[in-house]
Amino acid sequence: MAVVKERLMDALREHFGFDSFKGNQEKIINSILSGKDTFVIMPTGGGKSLCYQLPALMSPGCALIVSPLIALMKNQVDLVRGYSSKDNVAHFLNSTLSKAQIKKVRADLTAGKTKLLYVAPETLTKQENLDFFKELEISFIAVDEAHCISEWGHDFRPEYRRLKEMIDQISDKLPIIALTATATPKVQSDIVKNLGLNKASIFISSFNRPNLYYEIRPKRKKDQTIKDIVKFIHQHKGKSGIIYTLNRKTTEELADMLVANGVKAVAYHAGLDPSTRAQRQDMFLHEDTEVIVATIAFGMGIDKPDVRFVIHYNIPKSLENYYQETGRAGRDGLEGHCICYYSHKDVQKLEHLMRDKSLSEREMGAQLINETVAYAESAVCRRKVILHYFGEHFETENCGQCDNCRNPKEKIEVKNRVVIMLKA
Ligand code: ADP
Ligand code: MG
Ligand code: ZN
Repeated sequence: MAVVKERLMDALREHFGFDSFKGNQEKIINSILSGKDTFVIMPTGGGKSLCYQLPALMSPGCALIVSPLIALMKNQVDLVRGYSSKDNVAHFLNSTLSKAQIKKVRADLTAGKTKLLYVAPETLTKQENLDFFKELEISFIAVDEAHCISEWGHDFRPEYRRLKEMIDQISDKLPIIALTATATPKVQSDIVKNLGLNKASIFISSFNRPNLYYEIRPKRKKDQTIKDIVKFIHQHKGKSGIIYTLNRKTTEELADMLVANGVKAVAYHAGLDPSTRAQRQDMFLHEDTEVIVATIAFGMGIDKPDVRFVIHYNIPKSLENYYQETGRAGRDGLEGHCICYYSHKDVQKLEHLMRDKSLSEREMGAQLINETVAYAESAVCRRKVILHYFGEHFETENCGQCDNCRNPKEKIEVKNRVVIMLKA
């Protein structure tokens, strides 16, 4: 039963101050409000959060939102609270809370004041929490970043595999809504299988990001590459950008060299202590720094709308990663320049990183790398290749927004196409 359109629009305005829905949002929300299992595949920045936040605010009871990163949870809760006049409308429950804080969260939940509760998968592994949730009125379960279920996704979390079993303990009648920006067919089928979404309504949005410009540059000597990057940044003076590198050490080195060349830059990686990380992330969000040089530890869920460029200093380990990481550019719909430096040596580095893994993991990894290499070496429209990877057909003579379409002649010269062969 579709909720009357006016009621939905009123709620959208009242809770979020927006005048219209984006893309499939309205259909998705109607599906959730009618109690159906729902599977949402929508690119980063498409507006997935609102798809569960609005129905949660409109439904009796409290929605449980499973989210993989504790750091993101606070951010999300702050956002919802920001829209609302009541602080207890949204809470999170994870290992960072003190006993007193947990007590307060539980009291608000029991009193029915809370409409959204963000939980980590670990929260659901605790029996006392499951027992507590059993007694509450739960409206539905949202599994955000649902690709974490799949080893084919770009951010596999084993705990996500156990979600269905834990959800069923709370109640086997709860509607589940899974959301992800990963649309590869393999990941999709893993999600459906693991969460039992065989009967779900599925909403797939287009993954095309028309405002992103894709470009591959050959990676030569270190000095030259850095000079090239510095030049690019100076041409985009005052604009924000992210540079991704393969390892921690390179983030520091590169950031230092950028600073030496008059660029405001900081490094970011998982080896820094949490307060430094938080501080540098804030510097980037508040534009005290132009460039953040980071490992892939940076970015998931970061909602900075005006990132103008994403540079890959090393080729990413999958096309999926590339799409996600470049997806952080141009979230406001304006210009986003995505450059990937490509060399055979970096491909070997990626291969080397897998050396201690099992044969099946290495096979999987090699397949992903080979797909990325094929992208880098392709003369076909970059957009077409990326969208094809997501199972989407993109018809174009010339997208006008990638190097291959703009300069068909200036392709990277490839003598021997590298394909990784594994030694058993
Ligand atoms: P995703 O989780 O899909 O990456 P988010 O939920 O973080 O995307 O939303 C991305 C941005 O879009 C946010 O800044 C959000 O406020 C904005 N947004 C979402 N829905 C709407 C809407 N209907 N109108 C305008 N802005 C919206
Ligand atoms: Mg999101
Ligand atoms: Zn193109």
